Amino acid sequence: MGSGFTGCRFSVRRDSESNRSVGYLEIGIVEKVDNKKIIESFSSGRCPICALLRQDEFDGLCHWVGQSDDKDKESEERKRLLASGGFCNYHFWEFQGISTHYGSASIGAELIERLIKVLQTHGFEDLVDAFKERKEDFKAWSLEGYTHCLLCRDIKKKEKRYLKELTVILQDDSYKAKYSESYGLCIPHFIKIVDYIEDGSLIKFLFETELAQMGKIKANAINLIQKKEPPFCWQQTEDEKKSWFRAIEKIVGRSGT
Ligand SMILES: [Zn+2]
Ligand SMILES: [Zn+2]
Repeated sequence: MGSGFTGCRFSVRRDSESNRSVGYLEIGIVEKVDNKKIIESFSSGRCPICALLRQDEFDGLCHWVGQSDDKDKESEERKRLLASGGFCNYHFWEFQGISTHYGSASIGAELIERLIKVLQTHGFEDLVDAFKERKEDFKAWSLEGYTHCLLCRDIKKKEKRYLKELTVILQDDSYKAKYSESYGLCIPHFIKIVDYIEDGSLIKFLFETELAQMGKIKANAINLIQKKEPPFCWQQTEDEKKSWFRAIEKIVGRSGT
């Protein structure tokens, strides 16, 4: 997958005088961009939605790395991050993996400062009840639910958008054919897309392609094992070499879903 911070893709709002008309324009642009991205991701060799979300997640992480400098402390984005309580466990460690130590220290110090204030506000006597009831910020920091994480929320929103758009794309026979040749949706996304489908024939199409795609992955995985030893290992195809990754993603979706 490619990488890099793509920045704000839709800056139309800033240039317009009419919020209402721009709102419609933006929706149209977003749909068009999503449509193109989804079709392109049929050739990613993996679940098209997982492939797009992995890229979005990386772009999002890069965005936050760009916001992590100490001089950006007063930015609206930083205030939003602080108000939410920071990232979830998974995204905080992913963020740490690509940010500088200074960026992590800057965001870390701000969140610690907030934690100190919250703890002091409750005081020792009130603490046990506050913890037990998961009051306020403790709910986010108990790591029981990731709804506070801005990146998780952003990815969930995009996931919904992509799944809806895919149901529109798959009404076109030529795209259906391309989708059939791909590795198709992972099982978690196959389950989720059903929420957006009303057309029974589309469910039948997805069901049949899913079985064929899984059969292809299974056969490649079995072939890979059979070609484990030399001289057969030199005859492993690219699809066989990727079968272990595709099998896992097919079952549980991308890492971090
Ligand atoms: Zn997926
Ligand atoms: Zn998260």
